[in-house]
Amino acid sequence: MRRLALLLSFFALPAVAQQDFSKVEIRTEKLSDTVYMLTGAGGNLGLSVGEDAVFLVDDQFAPLTPKIEAAIAKITPKPVKFVLNTHWHFDHTGGNENLGKAGALIVAHENVRKRMSVENFIDFLGMKTKPDPRGALPVVTFTSDVTFHLNGDEIYVVHVPKAHTDGDAVVHFRKSGVIHMGDTFFNKLYPFIDTSSGGTVEGVIAAAEGALQASNERTKIIPGHGPLATRAELQAYRDMLATISARIRDQLRAGRTLEQVKAAKPTAEFDAAWGKGFLNPDRFVEMLYKNLEKAR
Ligand SMILES: [Zn+2]
Repeated sequence: MRRLALLLSFFALPAVAQQDFSKVEIRTEKLSDTVYMLTGAGGNLGLSVGEDAVFLVDDQFAPLTPKIEAAIAKITPKPVKFVLNTHWHFDHTGGNENLGKAGALIVAHENVRKRMSVENFIDFLGMKTKPDPRGALPVVTFTSDVTFHLNGDEIYVVHVPKAHTDGDAVVHFRKSGVIHMGDTFFNKLYPFIDTSSGGTVEGVIAAAEGALQASNERTKIIPGHGPLATRAELQAYRDMLATISARIRDQLRAGRTLEQVKAAKPTAEFDAAWGKGFLNPDRFVEMLYKNLEKAR
């Protein structure tokens, strides 16, 4: 229960803080012949099904595993064979232990396993996380990239360095024209960048640019949080982050304090579209300021 309280404090939104997992519904959206996006609570899921095996990207929170399995069972009778974690955060890896016990092989960047193995402190959220049990840890780790040849698709998983954390992976379902960005992309929400887990705004911008290069106007883009996106929406996200972070970097160089930077409202024209989610404009500015300050 203590762990659950910690999980809920991560999403300090009034609506989510009250959340009872028993009320969460898993919704399924078909994106191609073999790829689906599933949403519930926590990070968005990606799913590839077909003649070979069930491949799942992220697994939200442990109490949701039966509902996620039930949603998958409506598409295929096969069990989940692979789980790919986009990064170590518990709203993306909470189902690992359950799915591992059920026979899935858990795959992630090596830093995901490292961070899940130890206690972490997410500085910006003032939150301590416990080491995960052995059964929740990825059993296959990679350093730069790995490809899964499944279900008629080529599922290319690439590490994007120092982005939302130090262990992010972006997943390209190449034949299907779908990209899962993990938390390097929050669609229609100011993104959280976990500075204390090695995240940098430059890395998030680079991850967005990489996905823009690998996509076209028909590509469907699954963000870590927020609704399914188009390439144009990912471009708008990249431009928003580049514009705001450049302003804050300039102000830091000019010796402005955090309070002065907040007062200058460097996010003003973006707030209506991006500022109503997990981070309000002031918190977003504070997060970027501290991230950029550390990177100097
Ligand atoms: Zn995250």
